[in-house]
Amino acid sequence: MKKLAELYRGKAKTVYTTENPDLLILEFRNDTSAFDGLRIEQLDRKGMVNNKFNYFIMTQLRQAGIPTQVESLLSDNEVLVKKLQMVPVECVVRNRAAGSLVKRLGVEEGQVLNPPTFELFLKNDALHDPMVNDSHCKAFGWASDDQLAKMKELSFKINTILTDLFDKAGLILVDYKLEFGLFKGEITLGDEFSPDGCRLWEKSTLKKMDKDRFRQGLGGVIEAYEEVAKRIGVCL
Ligand code: ADP
Ligand code: UDP
Repeated sequence: MKKLAELYRGKAKTVYTTENPDLLILEFRNDTSAFDGLRIEQLDRKGMVNNKFNYFIMTQLRQAGIPTQVESLLSDNEVLVKKLQMVPVECVVRNRAAGSLVKRLGVEEGQVLNPPTFELFLKNDALHDPMVNDSHCKAFGWASDDQLAKMKELSFKINTILTDLFDKAGLILVDYKLEFGLFKGEITLGDEFSPDGCRLWEKSTLKKMDKDRFRQGLGGVIEAYEEVAKRIGVCL
């Protein structure tokens, strides 16, 4: 499958149309952004690592019965996916307090959240992705009641699958962001799951193994992503 035309260039990926109107190619670039695109740097190998990481995770999720976008891995940096009509809100699941939750509620980083929380954020960099709720989604036509219920159900199913997968690799899945879209009327997991969009801490040391290394200037960003990939069985 070949790229036809550039449809959209985001902060980390470029989206291309293909000869099949139902399929798109996502190209993972080395661009790494933080603070809603305010800081952007190139990190060697990141596109390749995240593409293969995402393909591995989405394949595991599909095998566990989650509807996902993934069709096939095309190259180191490209994946063929279903073209989704994206829901413009991000779903965030948290197993422990970190990031914006700590800032917003003044709770301690690392506090275990039992049961895990589910939050919605509008995808809008200029407004710094404000938090929204179900009634906003309905009133503005971003998602219906049924679609929201499905997104929440799938987000928690994914939490069970991935918490276990990372736990077996000696890692704590602290939190993560998912994006869903519609494919022929069905809520389907899109975008990516990689260390760019989740928090992973080493169980024994609580070392950060995700994009917080970039946000907080800790160094060794891609080395940490590669270590996580190796531990869960991604072939790089
Ligand atoms: P951003 O838009 O946040 O800068 P990216 O650089 O990751 O993010 O760009 C990828 C874009 O492609 C995102 O806007 C995402 O919502 C969209 N997207 C991801 N997967 C799909 C898909 N399967 N179908 C249609 N659009 C998608
Ligand atoms: N996240 C993301 N994209 C966003 C916002 C958040 O991938 O635009 C991820 C982030 O990496 C973390 C989780 O969602 O794993 C929760 O993020 P949080 O709300 O704490 O925001 P942050 O402080 O990380 O911006």
